[in-house]
Amino acid sequence: MPYKSRWTVPIPDCSLPTFLFTSATHAETPEVANKPCYLDASNPDTHYFTRAGYKLWAQRFALGLSRLPDFQPGDRVLVFSGNNLGFPVAFMGICMAGGIFTAANPTFVARELAYQLKDSGAKFLFAAEGSLETAVQAAKEAGLGKERVRWFDADVLFEKDGANKGRKHDVEYWSSVFAGPEEAKGFQWNELKGPNEAKDTVLALNYSSGTTGVPKGVMITHRNYISNCIQHQHLATLNPDAKARTARAKWLCFLPLYHAMAQTIYLSGGVMRQIPVYIMAKFDFIQLLENIQRFRITDFAMVPPIAVMVAKHPVVKKYDLSSVESIGSGAAPLGSEASREVEKIWGGRLNLKQGWGMTEVTCSLLGWDPTKYSASFGVGEPNANCEAKIMAVSEDVNGNQSFTEITERGPEHRGELWCRGPNIMKGYWNNEKATKGTFSPDGQWLRSGDIAYVDEDGCFFIVDRMKELIKVKGNQVAPAELEALIIDHPAIQDVAVIGVPTPDGDEKPKAFCVKQPGANVTEQEVCDFVKDKVVRYKRLVGGCEFVDAIPKNPSGKILRRQLRDMAANKAKAN
Ligand code: AMP
Repeated sequence: MPYKSRWTVPIPDCSLPTFLFTSATHAETPEVANKPCYLDASNPDTHYFTRAGYKLWAQRFALGLSRLPDFQPGDRVLVFSGNNLGFPVAFMGICMAGGIFTAANPTFVARELAYQLKDSGAKFLFAAEGSLETAVQAAKEAGLGKERVRWFDADVLFEKDGANKGRKHDVEYWSSVFAGPEEAKGFQWNELKGPNEAKDTVLALNYSSGTTGVPKGVMITHRNYISNCIQHQHLATLNPDAKARTARAKWLCFLPLYHAMAQTIYLSGGVMRQIPVYIMAKFDFIQLLENIQRFRITDFAMVPPIAVMVAKHPVVKKYDLSSVESIGSGAAPLGSEASREVEKIWGGRLNLKQGWGMTEVTCSLLGWDPTKYSASFGVGEPNANCEAKIMAVSEDVNGNQSFTEITERGPEHRGELWCRGPNIMKGYWNNEKATKGTFSPDGQWLRSGDIAYVDEDGCFFIVDRMKELIKVKGNQVAPAELEALIIDHPAIQDVAVIGVPTPDGDEKPKAFCVKQPGANVTEQEVCDFVKDKVVRYKRLVGGCEFVDAIPKNPSGKILRRQLRDMAANKAKAN
């Protein structure tokens, strides 16, 4: 039997802006409207929005966007930027205008951004100043005219109204898009009517390679976002002092807003729960500690590399982190030993809880009841309205798969984690084949590609990955993308890329290559060939190794497990 959540919560059928700003449950009283919503962590006294201020800036952007020649509801708008206060305005504005938001890592090289521009069919591109040169080059590659590109930062939101910083790289500043405050006040976003519109209307395309292949646009709908926010809030309300906790809560956003995790928690969850969010422009560990101390941050959501730094870095003890009331980790595995080390920083007063999710479930689907103690590396139980189960997968020689449910057979029985619930993506953008392959044959369950088991208390444990995905510091690296690049090298005949584990629990991409007969190429040359074609975390830091053949099954699928074992044996031997 699948594990069904212990909880059911109502999910309203409406658009995300209605849910966040006007629905009956979150009515805007003047007191609520004047609460701080987003603050710039390096300039919080002058650079911040109240909730009302944020809503109005988003309306101004939405009205302006909807007036741009060529803009139609359903158009994709790509945001290429690090974290800044313009980011939430762009997200909510695109959403209010009826567009589809998609964002990319601002350190991508032009080739990577051009891929996403083309794949999503983005009609407009908003790029931060530091990423503009790449953006312009990528727009050219993707055939997007310069009139559809704007550069942006948060200055227009805090300087004299309408301040225009002029053109850069022959691209206009985004200030020209904003409609005036008076007319925007009355701007009413398109409301979604009935359960089907909320369920079907796509709000964001978050890129993920899923279980196989190259990155794909994950279609996240209004209902997906609303569900996941309600599910997160629901877990928080299980705390006995939940109301008082929320009232004093302060969050720090140091994770990148282009990724599903920060996007869901900070661009929707914080607004929903009326919790002020301090936004950091980029991750800097010392600055992070200083900000927790300075702003009395209450909740600390980490990814494993940061958790390891918290546990090990001697500087941590110099900071007053006593305001923190909850600590958590997600996005990649974190061992129980590391978790206990992190807890020691708070003298054992806090219990580190891990959650599990993937871009395809909006943000998370398994989490902890906060009143329970987590002693292990378990990732908890299904969120409200969700179900999860474990499936043994077997494959015949032709690659045809069959499935047997083993959910209740205990920890020795490990299999693929399957899940379903209102936060599961609608599918992959323009890719029915990949969508079909990611859902169960009856279309009811999302196949995660993660290997898991459930213990006798109903706690899920993620133990391995059967999918190709490599995660480097929480970022996705799709082997298929690197393989497609490497195979273009004239001296390489065949290639497979895997992730090899690092001692601190992270992964590094490594290539196994078969040389063309008689070819003269070194392993370093292959690594260098990849280096400038990808963002830093996708580089072949794990190296390249020449082999006689790539192990494959009879249907031609790469046997990555064998390669991972080979890499592990080699590491042991050294
Ligand atoms: P992403 O779509 O970038 O969020 O990546 C999702 C993948 O990250 C999952 O399918 C897992 O492989 C991995 N992941 C997320 N959370 C955890 C966790 N708590 N433990 C182990 N792996 C995780």
